[in-house]
Amino acid sequence: MTHTAIVSALHDELASVLALMPDEHQQVVGGREFWVGHLHGQDVVAVLSGIGKVAAATTATLLIERFGVKRIVFTGVAGGLGSGVQVGDVVLARSFLQHDMDASPLFARHEVPGYGRARFDAAAGLTDALELACDRMLHTLPQQLGAETVAAFGLQAPRLHQGLLISGDRFVATTAESAALQRELPDALAVEMEGAAFAQVCHDFGVPLAVVRTISDRADDTAHMDFPRFLREVASRYSGAVVEALFSNR
Ligand code: SAH
Repeated sequence: MTHTAIVSALHDELASVLALMPDEHQQVVGGREFWVGHLHGQDVVAVLSGIGKVAAATTATLLIERFGVKRIVFTGVAGGLGSGVQVGDVVLARSFLQHDMDASPLFARHEVPGYGRARFDAAAGLTDALELACDRMLHTLPQQLGAETVAAFGLQAPRLHQGLLISGDRFVATTAESAALQRELPDALAVEMEGAAFAQVCHDFGVPLAVVRTISDRADDTAHMDFPRFLREVASRYSGAVVEALFSNR
């Protein structure tokens, strides 16, 4: 794979990606630190997405227009919505939707004006490759997490889910809001704040996108759990291992 962007949602995840890059150098554009270098001999650019749809869309556009990336792989965390999508599970996006897009009654609820659609697809080939990488990661990594970490977050044998990922400019942290989203979009597996923005920009430029999210919370009243600790001990290790598996083909 050449010219691949690796986008992380949060600092700990980016750090675990940078640890895999031997020779990166920094370029600052639009207040963002882009890390240009190699991963297993392939050209990559690593960057933080920025939180929320606008920050994400700007980062995606810069990656494509300024850095000429030919594909984008995004790793991050998300709140689980679908029944059976538990903390420590992994969700691979096959499609995206902006749950807070509402130009009704002019357009159907969730439809993005000008696009004639609400849902955007993930790139099948790249997502298939990421699926294999997730499978490889889930085979080995969970057993390497310490017993204390497993107990602290009540982690079960982690599962991989694939389907609809929804994004909006809200951290969903009440059971009422999570239930409303589940009622409105019953097939949504998880909610976060950037994926669908990347999908819209990638659609505009014809750039393949694949997104994987580790479930950090259930987007409900218990979503207040120890987020930094989960990032440090679980999510960032998942991200690093998935990226390593994707590029090493092992
Ligand atoms: N305190 C954090 C801020 C996290 S914002 C920090 O260290 O900066 C939440 C991030 O996690 C966003 O990138 C979003 O995509 C994702 N996320 C995780 N759980 C979420 C939820 N329940 N609702 C919305 N976004 C969520």
